[in-house]
Amino acid sequence: MDLYNSLIKETRELTDKLPAQVWDYDPKAVWPSNSSSELVLQKYAAYELGASGKGSANYVLFTSNEELGGKDQVILCGKDLKDIKSDCDFARIVILRIGVLDDDDEAVYRTLRDIEFAKYHVYPQGYMVRISPESYREQVRVSKEAVKKGISFKALGMNYIQAYKQDPNVISATVIFLTDPAADYSALKALAKKSADVTGTLTHIFEGLPTDCSVCALKDICDEVEGMKELHFGVGDKGTDHKH
Ligand code: SF4
Repeated sequence: MDLYNSLIKETRELTDKLPAQVWDYDPKAVWPSNSSSELVLQKYAAYELGASGKGSANYVLFTSNEELGGKDQVILCGKDLKDIKSDCDFARIVILRIGVLDDDDEAVYRTLRDIEFAKYHVYPQGYMVRISPESYREQVRVSKEAVKKGISFKALGMNYIQAYKQDPNVISATVIFLTDPAADYSALKALAKKSADVTGTLTHIFEGLPTDCSVCALKDICDEVEGMKELHFGVGDKGTDHKH
């Protein structure tokens, strides 16, 4: 799975130039979770991350490349939750190294969809996440109580890694949080859109989209993303078979 590799490189170029704290995965360090999403009312909120009017981006990138995939790690660029005093910019980016499933492209695609879904199964206490897939943003309301109890990005990152690693196809997960006002949130949002475009194109391909580039609305994406056309021509007939 190399379709997202250029997006991973561009993401790392944007994040690697910022000062960062890094923690290796420690499943014992997770923040307590709820079984479903918790409502944090505004009057009990300390602040909002990625609130409207602030920078915000959220996306997941996949690779089979060991070097690009990184390690099970949490990376924080910017202030931690205890030091944030008011609404601020926020991005959460996840890079997942997945096993090579190249023999069966459809299996790879299903894995991506299953894994994407896992992000909705993390419900940390006092941390209400609102994802807006159409705008590639993630907005989080953090409760005063959670801040008092010591909630941190390190602990939250462990919750996400634990959730992603429940999928046996995930070899490693790197979770990057950004709150640094110096980060380029509009560039990150543009990468979030491209990532969604790649995943969306894969969806169409596996739904049996005809392989006719001359009339295809996805041509711009396929011209830009290396490997996409090869993938479609490789699975083209197979996709149509599935439909009937
Ligand atoms: S390979 Fe061609 S037909 Fe297939 S999705 Fe891309 S542009 Fe469309």
